[in-house]
Amino acid sequence: MPKNIKIMLLLSGILSLGFIATNMVGYFVARASLASQISNDTLPLIGDNIYSEIQRDLLQPIIIASLMANDTFLKDWVTRGEKNPKEIQKYLKTIQNTYNTVTSFFISDKSLNYYHPSGILKKVSPTLASDQWYFHARNLKTTHELNIDYDPSKNDELTVFINYKVMDANNDVLGITGVGLALSQVQNLIELYQQKYNREVFFIDLKGEVTLFGSAYQGDIDFSHDINGINIKDKILNNGSASVSYPKGSQNIMVDSRFIEEFNWYLIIRQSDKDLDGSIFDSLLLNLFISLMITIIVLSLTWLTLGGYQKKLEEMAITDKLTGLNNRQMFDPILDQMFQLATRDGSELSVLILDIDDFKKVNDQYGHPFGDQVLVEVAKLLKESTRDSDVLCRWGGEEFLLLMPDASSVEALKFTQHLQSRFANLNLVIEKTNIKVEFSIGIASKCATDEPSHFIYRADQALLQAKQNGKNQIVVG
Ligand code: GH3
Ligand code: MG
Ligand code: MG
Repeated sequence: MPKNIKIMLLLSGILSLGFIATNMVGYFVARASLASQISNDTLPLIGDNIYSEIQRDLLQPIIIASLMANDTFLKDWVTRGEKNPKEIQKYLKTIQNTYNTVTSFFISDKSLNYYHPSGILKKVSPTLASDQWYFHARNLKTTHELNIDYDPSKNDELTVFINYKVMDANNDVLGITGVGLALSQVQNLIELYQQKYNREVFFIDLKGEVTLFGSAYQGDIDFSHDINGINIKDKILNNGSASVSYPKGSQNIMVDSRFIEEFNWYLIIRQSDKDLDGSIFDSLLLNLFISLMITIIVLSLTWLTLGGYQKKLEEMAITDKLTGLNNRQMFDPILDQMFQLATRDGSELSVLILDIDDFKKVNDQYGHPFGDQVLVEVAKLLKESTRDSDVLCRWGGEEFLLLMPDASSVEALKFTQHLQSRFANLNLVIEKTNIKVEFSIGIASKCATDEPSHFIYRADQALLQAKQNGKNQIVVG
């Protein structure tokens, strides 16, 4: 795999992992803190609000029942022997009309008569299961209770009764009085709370059984769970208010409870942490999208930068910085290739090694930077003089090498002589100084038994010969 691709893969892996990890940590931290905020603050606050609304909405019937239970007329009428039932009938009718309740009633403990605005409905019987509510209510330790039951005066319609004990001066039970609200009325209230606070709202009794619920009701509380060794049912039922949570599948269900003394019921507000996911999940998606964009931008920039550097590195590796010609590294594979080609085709191949004469003196006289400029100009001229198919490279300091495919030694010599005379007639001016450049040149042409290294060696030897012969000359090796 190319190195660049490897780097890109590694980088995208690191960036993706980093972004995913930080985003997920952020998501879970936000979720946990929101969940704890909801169960510690929001749900209890909603509980408070609903409680005060319940007090406002349901307390009135309890107060009415309490007024009835303490009404001296009612007490006197019973103690006087329940004479003239019309009177109590009228009384109950007045209550019903004044307070607009569904029903109003009084059951005498003595006669067990069920008095109603329309008359005596029946006698309650200790042996009848449907009348057991009365005997339960009269034995209450508290003053009253809420009871959902069928109203015998209304075709057995489900009704919320407020059963209030009527006591005489000796604290003996005279009977039970109270009013009834249509269950649908109370349920409407629950619906209203649910809509207003967007949470599940319902009631449970002292045994933990659900008594009233609205349309959002999601089923019983799963009491099988413990928190810190305490069963959540016990925690709810033994405390005036409690916050508990329990798992349900992949969700966590948060429950806030509060005891409503007037009802003898617990108000429950319940919410799943699944509901939290919406907004937090949206922001997680947004963050992941932003991270993806950043990753793409970083990767693109890295790709471009790497590409640029790569190109530069490749150029640096094959070209000479000063003259821009091929360097020696680049030359070796080209020589091998051309050599093989010439051997296969039986074609000619010649090589020239050119060494500037007495270049040290140029440096000594005019300085190194000046010498550099001479080298640049010489390289330019050499490049201009050669064919496209020729390969020119800077062989060493002031040495150049020219590989001439399809050129015999005669042709190479001819070209070299032409080159030499060109340099001889050249008027090279650098920094206002007229400079003469002379070369010693060694030529070698490929023979059938040659090896690339020997081929170059022969040219080198020819160059040495040219130097020894007094420089500024050409020797064919
Ligand atoms: P000869 O005729 O025997 O070739 O003598 P020479 O002075 O040309 O050769 P020598 O090998 O004694 O010295 C080569 C000189 O070329 C010395 C070195 O400082 C100079 N040279 C090599 N590379 C560079 C370069 O890149 N820039 C400059 N300015 N000078 C260079
Ligand atoms: Mg030299
Ligand atoms: Mg030299």
